[in-house]
Amino acid sequence: MSTHHPATGGRETDRALQGLAEHLTGTLTGPDDPGYDEARRVWNGMVDVRPRALARAGSVADVDHVLATARSTGLPLAVRGGGHSIAGHSTVADGLVLDLGGLTGVEVDPATRTVTVEPGATLAHVDRATAPHGLAVPLGVVGGTGVAGLTLGGGIGWLTRTHGLTVDNLLSAEVVTAAGEHLHVDAAEHPELFWGLRGGGGNFGVVTSFRYRARPLVSPVLAGGLVYRRPHWEQALTAFEEWTRELPDEMNPIVSFVVLPPEYGLGPEVLMTVGLVWASPRHGPGLELVDRLRTAAPPDLGTVAPVPWTVWQTAKDAVFPAGSRGYWKNVAFSRLDEEVVAALVAVASEIGWVGSGINLHCLGGAFGRVPEDATAWPRRTARFWVHVFGFWRDPADDVRLTAYARRVHAALAPFAEQGQYVNFLGAEPGADPVTAARRAYGHDKHERLVALKNRYDPGNLFRGNHNIVPTGHR
Ligand code: FAD
Repeated sequence: MSTHHPATGGRETDRALQGLAEHLTGTLTGPDDPGYDEARRVWNGMVDVRPRALARAGSVADVDHVLATARSTGLPLAVRGGGHSIAGHSTVADGLVLDLGGLTGVEVDPATRTVTVEPGATLAHVDRATAPHGLAVPLGVVGGTGVAGLTLGGGIGWLTRTHGLTVDNLLSAEVVTAAGEHLHVDAAEHPELFWGLRGGGGNFGVVTSFRYRARPLVSPVLAGGLVYRRPHWEQALTAFEEWTRELPDEMNPIVSFVVLPPEYGLGPEVLMTVGLVWASPRHGPGLELVDRLRTAAPPDLGTVAPVPWTVWQTAKDAVFPAGSRGYWKNVAFSRLDEEVVAALVAVASEIGWVGSGINLHCLGGAFGRVPEDATAWPRRTARFWVHVFGFWRDPADDVRLTAYARRVHAALAPFAEQGQYVNFLGAEPGADPVTAARRAYGHDKHERLVALKNRYDPGNLFRGNHNIVPTGHR
């Protein structure tokens, strides 16, 4: 690549980048190279920054070279898996991007029901590899999302009540630390680091391989949605709250409020959908359970039927194309009584456009049985987790739709429990990262994460994330 860039260049940095280009089995792309604009693009179209160079790793050895270059030059580093960070953490202005997106291998061992995944794989890569074996790793709900970032933050999706978060199914990880050590990390080796990797984000090193426990999942699964028009929301939410009190683990509901793009043919009104996955090969009990909800709150439309798992897992991809603009927030809570329903309905009713949505994840089940201090995930006792998300295209909407997400968050804040999921948080320029991390994880978990950061990354090489600031950097 051509590396000279007068705005940020020193000759030594240029030379170091030149040396990096020569060592890489992958490629190094700089501002003057063809493909630079493509290489610097991330999912969130609001994040339009110009890195000094992007190193697309072709092997694990490339990770060592990139980290060594970041250390020697002092260039700020960003690590990219699938590039879906809402806060824009997979790129960095005037810095060096380690792009792992070319490493997408997935190996399934059906005998041990384990899956080994390279750090650039997407959810779709994993689902496509596991499905033929009747297996699934609990991941998220959009196929194009990167497995790496999703896992390190937690990973919530259509199997969370049945089998827990993605991190609850992580068996081990291969990690390259800030100092360049290669560690095999699991419950026995480096257990504290293993704790921190499961929710603490990319703060502690570059994960070059993830090994998961896969769960039996017979496809097609029973899945679909009950759709409610505005006049029926209160009744439906009240019935839903009651219905979820005694829910078997196999049932995974997510309530959504959204105006779908025109190609869905559902009109321009905001609809409430109770999306459902019944993760059991015996569909009968699942259908009976859905019928109970239908009877308590008859939907305006909607179907629940057998759907191939990989079809279901990619069904929402078209709503969230790369380049969408987005600012996200989230709130954990356990009440869904009249007062909370009124607050939720009031903000959801405002949505009169394609581009914003609210999901209410129903938790409990296997998720809720994981002991609070077993992982760095912020809160296990919350019954519900509201996620307000954006997927708009027009920059003219940035201010209005960012303000909308903040308004939803503020409206639900009075009912919030401590805990925020970092992967559902947008950028807050100027905010104090220590306060933000304490708010996300709570005081005790944050302290424990800081101790881990002090041990594995005291120089804060890995700061392109929801940062756990080491003590020496405050
Ligand atoms: P990246 O932007 O590449 O990385 C995110 C963070 O992880 C960065 O800080 C990065 O430095 C770090 N990182 C990435 N790879 C590594 C690595 N190998 N080693 C160390 N650090 C690394 N989340 C859910 O839980 N459930 C969902 O259903 C869900 N759906 C989503 C749908 C869409 C359309 C989008 C945009 C996001 C969704 N998310 C969901 C949020 C998602 O979990 C985060 O955006 C996550 O960061 C994506 O991971 P990534 O690898 O694509 O991101």
